[in-house]
Amino acid sequence: MPVVSAKRMLTDAATHGYAIGAFNVTNIIQMEAVIEAAAARRAPLIVQTSVTPTKFLRPEVIAAAFRAMAETLPIPACLHLDHCDDVEFCKRCADVGYTNVMYDGSKLEFEENIRLTREVVEYCHGRGDITVEGELGTVSGVEDQVRVAETEAELCDPARSLEFVERSGVDLFAPAIGTAHGVYTTENPKIDFDRFEKIQEIVNGRGIVAPLIVHGGTGLKPEVVKRLVALGGAKFNVSTDLKYALIDAIYEYISTHRNEYNPGKIDVAAKRAVIERVDYWIDLLGCGGRAEGSGAIQPPFQ
Ligand SMILES: [Zn+2]
Repeated sequence: MPVVSAKRMLTDAATHGYAIGAFNVTNIIQMEAVIEAAAARRAPLIVQTSVTPTKFLRPEVIAAAFRAMAETLPIPACLHLDHCDDVEFCKRCADVGYTNVMYDGSKLEFEENIRLTREVVEYCHGRGDITVEGELGTVSGVEDQVRVAETEAELCDPARSLEFVERSGVDLFAPAIGTAHGVYTTENPKIDFDRFEKIQEIVNGRGIVAPLIVHGGTGLKPEVVKRLVALGGAKFNVSTDLKYALIDAIYEYISTHRNEYNPGKIDVAAKRAVIERVDYWIDLLGCGGRAEGSGAIQPPFQ
């Protein structure tokens, strides 16, 4: 199945009550792992990279590797740039093969957020079927070295959601509802379900306009994830969970094979650990076996 853009994939998810995992990768082994795991479960997939690893590896290299791995798969897959506050870098990623980009203007004043998000939207839509995610309110935690305290995070104002979506033209909408990046500092993070439900009703109540995105999936209890999916969460971002899996597996392998110098075996151990976590998320989000529905309703990405 071809590489596709995210919007129709997520519209299918929002329509049928499941969600799609958007897995952050920082290297090729993680990318192989999430693609293999999703293919084995016939789950539609979003592979995403945050800005620092994207700059380190270069978007051209990531996009080429992704395309080579994804093109022959039996599942729809797309490549997403996460949390980018640099308009020009968003454009560069769109130019080299990212199928979806997130312009993150959440720390800007409302009008400025709309203006710059709109600039990215116009550029991406002008290049074909490249979709854009925008954010309103701020998600706490550490994302790509930027720290926002849980008490300082400003939640999304439902009353301004639709205006933001319509005026910016975003395809996917990430409202801040109390989820956090990284590991939660409290055992029971305060997730504002009512706010999320209200936003879903306002934005997508009369047909899916912009599927809702949930940031900070790692550490959310299964019942919280399921409730957010039931309320319309269509894309769940999972980053920290996979970093822990990767690093713990590498550390453990090296610790127990101190005299072995075979990088391939370390990679295999790391890959296996990441696949296990992706499996967990596919079960939780209910996207296993959904490849046909989400890929069949659209033309191939050009
Ligand atoms: Zn995020």
